[in-house]
Amino acid sequence: MAARFSGVLQLTDLDDFIAPSQECIKPVKVDKKPGKSAAKIRIEADGSYFQVNQDGEAQKLEKAKITLNDCLACSGCITSAESVLVRQQSHEEFCKVLALNKVADPHEQKLVVVSCVLKFCYPVPGVHYVFDTTFSRNFSLLESQQEFVRRFHRQANDKKALPMLASACPGWICYAEKTHGSFIIPHISTTKSPQQVMGSLVKGYFAEQKQLPPDRIYHVTVMPCYDKKLEASRPDFFNQEYQTRDVDCVITTGEVLKLLEQEGVSLSDMDPAPLDNLLGGAAGELSTHPGGGSGGYLEHIFKRSALELFGIHVDSIHYKPLKNKDLQEVTLERDGEVLLHFALAYGFRNIQNLVQKLKRGKCPYHYVEVMACPSGCLNGGGQIKLEGESSKEELQQVERLYESLRAEIPEENQAVRELYQHWLGGWGSERAQAVLHTQYHAVERTNSALNIKW
Ligand code: SF4
Repeated sequence: MAARFSGVLQLTDLDDFIAPSQECIKPVKVDKKPGKSAAKIRIEADGSYFQVNQDGEAQKLEKAKITLNDCLACSGCITSAESVLVRQQSHEEFCKVLALNKVADPHEQKLVVVSCVLKFCYPVPGVHYVFDTTFSRNFSLLESQQEFVRRFHRQANDKKALPMLASACPGWICYAEKTHGSFIIPHISTTKSPQQVMGSLVKGYFAEQKQLPPDRIYHVTVMPCYDKKLEASRPDFFNQEYQTRDVDCVITTGEVLKLLEQEGVSLSDMDPAPLDNLLGGAAGELSTHPGGGSGGYLEHIFKRSALELFGIHVDSIHYKPLKNKDLQEVTLERDGEVLLHFALAYGFRNIQNLVQKLKRGKCPYHYVEVMACPSGCLNGGGQIKLEGESSKEELQQVERLYESLRAEIPEENQAVRELYQHWLGGWGSERAQAVLHTQYHAVERTNSALNIKW
């Protein structure tokens, strides 16, 4: 299972162990058996707990249960939560909800919404609405750019305002929180990723329009990587009042294919269906954002900030490859003076070098688009693998398809403007800040032996 996550996560701590055991540093409470006086608790190698009574009798205790949240808040393992994760964030779980919906009373049925990062949509029985995360990425891009400008203005008084590091990749975020904690967090943009912006829109705006409480909507996202399952499971995206997540289930594009195979359906035999518009009706022509398959953050922030901060129009961006194609930089110069210095750093090797430079105070950049996967999101670990194609050919094919779509300009999208104006209380409002931004948590490494509590 660990091999399916991005390389960055695999390199940190995914391959530890598979069930709560002595090594787990999360304090868990296991109730002792009543009526007997326990002499001691014995822990077996498989993680089972036994209460050994005064008379020598050994009684098996309930297995300790930890949740994915527990694991995400810990610097130890993640694999111990994978059984939980697989149950909560799998195509099996999605099918279970669809099946339950068929037999549930109407007032208990869930409205099933799927948000896709895919550029295709096929009708799935039981799914009521399908949205495209390109729409929510508009908000992520706009907010990231505004955040960058704010940070740029305060760089003289705030040493950690710059460089601003991208926040859309949960593999990178998880690695940063666990490995570099409070040192790196102030540099990370607080803007939510497109998946989580969509979560807020679906469980917030869309639920209001449908006059449903958020927990009556089952929101599934289809994503290119397993790391997105971890992101959806973060406590920051859990609605305490309604006990529901902004994104209930994440399935990868590869899992969608598996689901279809299970149903005996071939993708090539299906007719595409139009995507829905969050504000009603069908969505228009498929579109994407320019600047590569990882969201186009660098390109959007660079062009808009060049204009806003220096009054310079940038038509096209010239990327300068450095040590490898996953490390490239872009500069804006005037009369020999460097005004903006941006970079993209994909994959563990480049991320590690970037962090080391930052630690030595030698990072020259104002902004870095950081992504955990080499070649970015189009190469995510959850993507469909085509038979008979090398991964390089496959990636080139996906890149070509992606680039063939219409380029979307976030600030020109009428629906985005309308939501800012009527639902978020205006551009730059407190509500927009609360709905579209998040926070991160440093995870300090602790000595496991000192943390087992009974
Ligand atoms: Fe997922 Fe993209 Fe990050 Fe890879 S780079 S882990 S695909 S968000």
